[in-house]
Amino acid sequence: MLTAIVGVNWGDEGKGRMVDLLSESYDVICRYQGGNNAGHTVVNEKGRFILNLLPSGILREETVNVMGGGMVIDLEHLCGEIGALQANGVSILPKNLKISDKAFICLPFHKAQDILEEDRLGDKKYGSTRRGIAPAYGDKYMKKGLRMGDLLEVGRLKEKLYDILEWKNIILKGYGSAIAEPSDMLRWLYEYGAILAPYITDTTAYLSEAVRAKQNIMFEAQLGALRDIDYGIYPYTTSSHTLAAFAPIGAGIPGAKIERVIGVIKAYSSCVGEGPFTAELFGDAANALRESGAEYGAATGRPRRVGGFDIPASRYGVQVQGANELALTKLDVLSYMDKIPVCAWYEIDGARCDGFPIGDKLMRAKPVYEYLPGFKTDISKCRSTEELPSEAIDYIRYIENAVGCPIKYVSVGAERDEYLMMK
Ligand code: GDP
Ligand code: MG
Repeated sequence: MLTAIVGVNWGDEGKGRMVDLLSESYDVICRYQGGNNAGHTVVNEKGRFILNLLPSGILREETVNVMGGGMVIDLEHLCGEIGALQANGVSILPKNLKISDKAFICLPFHKAQDILEEDRLGDKKYGSTRRGIAPAYGDKYMKKGLRMGDLLEVGRLKEKLYDILEWKNIILKGYGSAIAEPSDMLRWLYEYGAILAPYITDTTAYLSEAVRAKQNIMFEAQLGALRDIDYGIYPYTTSSHTLAAFAPIGAGIPGAKIERVIGVIKAYSSCVGEGPFTAELFGDAANALRESGAEYGAATGRPRRVGGFDIPASRYGVQVQGANELALTKLDVLSYMDKIPVCAWYEIDGARCDGFPIGDKLMRAKPVYEYLPGFKTDISKCRSTEELPSEAIDYIRYIENAVGCPIKYVSVGAERDEYLMMK
């Protein structure tokens, strides 16, 4: 069985938590896009872990974890992440971590360029995490970069790097910045490349064999539908494809078909960084929701923007993900509310809009809020539909109808067992 677990919204829906919960019955977990620009938080019996690059299955001993060719990898960051987990007793070996030889390397100068460009933009900045992801993907498509497989051909690495730096330093000089020192970059590649080399492999060959052997494979996305480079809120998107349809390509098995797409959808909205976020709440309402949901970025610690559940955006997210079932997360966060705010539709230029527009039209959208009765009870101990207050069930059914997809799982806490299955 091939399954994708993907975000329906702007990211931070709790995908890591759902992957951690559901990965038990999977043999292989693959990351297929993105870099260390986002974070999954996983809480289980071993502790609380923030994973930026490693697939969430790394915390389960029997699971093989694949970092696909669609990713961009900051070698230093990955070595740090591996080291921190190993120090907590998590076993990470070439048998349970496989890094694609096609994954793109995010170098220190990508990070430098990201910061230089955001600073240059000033008020017009994108709200980048400043970790070099956009410049790295840009260079990938310019075909001026290094891939993980290059680390295994040490003899040619210097020449390839120096050719790229000749070009890249023209750009860095244009910003009035110091250039990327070739010898420093080479040392960085040698140092971290030596640590990672044993994990680098042909993931296409590995995964093709896994498919043939009828293993259960799960694809784990980073960020959500609305951040997809083509289908999201461009240009306030990420630089890669967050959609389930891209998962087989980004992981390494482009010919394989995904049978199950689980969309992770949050009981309210949150968004990191700049860009249109129609359902946004402000003032006391926003502060209360942010505190209740602990909405601070896993990768950056930045306070997240928050709002009520956004129906037009979520319906679109479900559609472009091709989700056939949903996991609704963080329902417990709403338990303090007397009435639950829901952005039912948008008003654009005085007219009702139920769809999800793009570009400037989205920028002009105003939220039209409806309110549902609150449940005012701690639901974090509920483990079945029967134990939920009727207002909570009504809210779940309301969302299900609005987005047009069944909700199968409801998460009521961050711990592995804090969830229930809908009947
Ligand atoms: P991801 O990027 O989609 O994996 O999500 P993040 O890890 O960035 O953000 C989700 C946050 O919510 C994490 O801190 C989780 O531990 C936490 N979380 C996940 N599910 C629930 C839930 O049902 N209730 C509560 N209260 N917290 C949750
Ligand atoms: Mg996150």
